[in-house]
Amino acid sequence: MLVLQMDVKVPERMPHGEPVGIDLGLLSFLATSTGETIARPRFFVDLQGKLKLLQRRLKHKKKGSKNWQKLQMKIAKLHEYISNTRKDFHFKTAHHLCDSAGMIFAEDLNLKGLARGMLGKHCLDAAWGQFLKILKWVCWKRDVYFAQVDHRGTNQSCPQCLTVTGFKELSERIHLCPVCGYQTDRDVAAAQVVLARGETALREGFPPEPLPCGGSPR
Ligand SMILES: [Zn+2]
Repeated sequence: MLVLQMDVKVPERMPHGEPVGIDLGLLSFLATSTGETIARPRFFVDLQGKLKLLQRRLKHKKKGSKNWQKLQMKIAKLHEYISNTRKDFHFKTAHHLCDSAGMIFAEDLNLKGLARGMLGKHCLDAAWGQFLKILKWVCWKRDVYFAQVDHRGTNQSCPQCLTVTGFKELSERIHLCPVCGYQTDRDVAAAQVVLARGETALREGFPPEPLPCGGSPR
């Protein structure tokens, strides 16, 4: 009789296949280490504008009146529509990434910190936190390994030679390394640094964050 005993904790999804790093940005929604950029949908901005307009209009209505109630309902419906559209975009993007990757590495965004900073409004609008949650879940469903790495300074070093190249202004769209001459889109470079960090962590047998994933984010 053969008894096998395993006291190793088996992660839910094993690292395998093509590794991809992603960087969440402001100008494009995200960039991948393979050079793909996914645009941030402009229609959210338009919808937010429409929402603000309705909310302004509400102020001029008598509270509790029929017209006030009607407008209130309209605002609630628009809120729901925006939230559903965003979720849909996040799910589609997550599935798209899983189509070509066996492992996905992302930054561990300090969302609360960002929200307090000057980038707050944009960050909240892009809803990165929700996207990462959805991505984690879709990866788990699709048998793609997902892990997060330290976000600090991902756009301040060269993915090719690892030289620290320093802070980039948001207007600086190109990464050009003064040491090795490597040149690419700044967000793609950041995604490549994320990938490098994830691969290093895996190689050193120290998975950045294994994936216990409970429940659907819906
Ligand atoms: Zn370099």
